[in-house]
Amino acid sequence: RIRRRELRSPHNLDSFGPCFFSIFKSLVPSEDEIVKQEQLLLSLRKLVKKEWPDAELHLYGSCANSFGVSNSDIDVCLAINDYEISKLDILLKLADILESSNLQNVQALTHARVPIVKMMDPVTGISCDICVNNLLALVNTKLLKDYAQIDQRLRQLAFIVKHWAKSRRVNETYQGTLSSYAYVLMCIHFLQTRKPAILPCLQGMEATCRVIANETECAYFDKVEKLKNFGARNKESITQLLWAFFHYWAYWHDYTNDVISVRTGRIISKQEKDWTRRIGNDRHLICIEDPFQVSHDLGRVVDKFSIKILREEFERAADILQYNSNPTVTLFEPY
Ligand code: ATP
Ligand code: MG
Repeated sequence: RIRRRELRSPHNLDSFGPCFFSIFKSLVPSEDEIVKQEQLLLSLRKLVKKEWPDAELHLYGSCANSFGVSNSDIDVCLAINDYEISKLDILLKLADILESSNLQNVQALTHARVPIVKMMDPVTGISCDICVNNLLALVNTKLLKDYAQIDQRLRQLAFIVKHWAKSRRVNETYQGTLSSYAYVLMCIHFLQTRKPAILPCLQGMEATCRVIANETECAYFDKVEKLKNFGARNKESITQLLWAFFHYWAYWHDYTNDVISVRTGRIISKQEKDWTRRIGNDRHLICIEDPFQVSHDLGRVVDKFSIKILREEFERAADILQYNSNPTVTLFEPY
């Protein structure tokens, strides 16, 4: 493997800036789509309130963390304090309720890692996954949204990375590649470690919000309106960052020893986390620490076959940004 630490981004890369920016713009959901999502949420709330007056429905995932591209499914969490009835029974009951309204393709996936009910709303055409009491997902949704407000380059970078990952089919956890959530964390960590830094480490600052979600204490500085100028000293453009992001994952990241950690804003060692050997199905071939569930490696889905695919895709992307004359097209060529 050739190490290319010495390479610099090509001079002409910035001429593609406007084109990458318009790709970003084209991925942002329209007003119309957001209105439809809200409509669907309102009608789901009505249905749920009838059965459980105290329950609440919250949006989470990409429709709420500001990293949602257009035409995504929406993720909804039912927050309910009913100790009489088990989580699975709540899901089955919920599936019943949805089924008897006019929602389509209602399916309860009770054996998934995060059990959900899936369905499609024929009025808005939007598909939706509903989970029960997954409060950690609500908190990590807010953390991502708060980071996005600090520097606009994060959203631009993450949209393009997600679009690349979907086009190249490396955003499929059941095939051993990474989740969208993992890619956004990779982007946040990358911007935390630029010199000068573009993003701060919110969990390393004095906590202004504190909750306990699913037995895990979650605390960080969330007054992000005070951090609007944080990244101003760093003048890197979106194309330079994109180039450096892919070069980092293709040629610079130390897959043998390193864990990326948004929680600390730096690299930590696998040794320190005891992530050096395979335990059960966790192989730790690419290590991305969850910011709140710190024993949770978001790279755990990656196996010895998919790590190879993933690293080849990082190299392909890095090489396209280095040498290709038409990177804004070639980067996203379908796999
Ligand atoms: P997409 O646009 O691809 O739907 P998404 O942000 O909704 O992107 P998903 O991977 O569908 O990403 O995850 C939805 C949400 O579920 C995430 O935003 C996060 O809050 C939570 N989540 C997903 N995977 C994990 C995980 N492994 N650990 C903790 N939370 C997770
Ligand atoms: Mg989603």
